Amino acid sequence: MMRLPKFTYRVPRVVADAVKMMGDAGPEGQFVAGGTDLYPNMKRRQQTPKTVISVTRLKELNQITGDGAGGLRIGAGVSLTDICEHTIINRDYPFIAEAARTISTPILRNMGTIGGNLLLDTRCNYYDQNYEWRKGINFCMKKDGEVCWVAPGSSKCWAVQSADLVPLMVAMGARVRLVSTLGERMVEAAGLYNNDGIDYLHKRPDELLASIHLPPLNGWRATYKKLRRRGAFDFPVLGVAARLDMDADGTVKDARIILGGIAPAPIEVKEAAVLLIGHALDRERMEAAAEACYLKARPLDNTDFVMNWRKQMARPYVLRALEELQDK
Ligand SMILES: Cc1cc2nc3c(=O)[nH]c(=O)nc-3n(C[C@H](O)[C@H](O)[C@H](O)COP(=O)(O)OP(=O)(O)OC[C@H]3O[C@@H](n4cnc5c(N)ncnc54)[C@H](O)[C@@H]3O)c2cc1C
Ligand code: SF4
Repeated sequence: MMRLPKFTYRVPRVVADAVKMMGDAGPEGQFVAGGTDLYPNMKRRQQTPKTVISVTRLKELNQITGDGAGGLRIGAGVSLTDICEHTIINRDYPFIAEAARTISTPILRNMGTIGGNLLLDTRCNYYDQNYEWRKGINFCMKKDGEVCWVAPGSSKCWAVQSADLVPLMVAMGARVRLVSTLGERMVEAAGLYNNDGIDYLHKRPDELLASIHLPPLNGWRATYKKLRRRGAFDFPVLGVAARLDMDADGTVKDARIILGGIAPAPIEVKEAAVLLIGHALDRERMEAAAEACYLKARPLDNTDFVMNWRKQMARPYVLRALEELQDK
């Protein structure tokens, strides 16, 4: 049985105390929300914080306010189950509830939060293993080792961004509020991710993710399609988030297509958007956009399924997403 290492557990009640505790803990501190990712990682000794600071009792992080007309603010500590069931999310942003329903299992969704999802560690077959397994291959660059077993000549880690809500939040143009003892800042979700499997966030470890801010709807529509082995629970090995803004006559005014599950960061396919903007959403345009996504998708051999097949699946998954938006 894998056991957690020893650590000090702290449970602040207000955000100011939480960031102060993190400041005091320094590099040995880490926030935890549902712990559905952090605790398994600690058991595998991938992450070994000495002080773990829970965000679960921070009231401010557990609220959802606003609506589709004025924009929605979701506290980072809101559980995935609450996202799935929330009346206003289901009415105004149903695609978020639908995407959240594809994450892990009902029990894990009761514990897991939207904040933990957006900050999820990157994943790789050579990294998501217990300590003895990793020791058996002399570890890898992401933790305790020097070589990348996926791309041995590479100076960079290619572990994969595998959180389902990430591509959707980027496609929607969501923003996040980060708080630390140095103050607070708002960051575009698109600017939060770095295409490096080790240093995968443009966020300092001492910054608390307080809330996620969704823009007002103003007529745009969005969807998320997920490729995985088992429908009951599995991480995405390809995720397609698409957002379209259409004129009354059916012309695409604006478009954003984001691919997840294929690289250390979500990948925006601007070439696909260019093909769609200014045109009717017909079959020819949708297929051209899907082809652009296929060309841009370059998954590596470090998650489930053969990488070439995952690349090929970009075409039908993008097409499915666009067909769904055409019908909305
Ligand atoms: C069997 C299994 C299947 C899974 N399947 C999926 C899946 O299909 N799709 C998917 O997307 N995920 C999946 N997950 C991963 C995980 O359950 C979810 O991503 C969940 O949303 C993580 O949220 P959490 O609150 O548990 O995060 P935690 O484990 O608490 O935290 C995750 C990371 O975020 C940091 N963090 C959390 N909250 C904050 C905050 N407010 N401020 C700063 N840092 C913070 C933590 O320090 C940690 O680094 C799966 C996990 C398991 C065990
Ligand atoms: S991509 Fe390479 S360095 Fe990164 S986790 Fe996998 S094997 Fe390790």
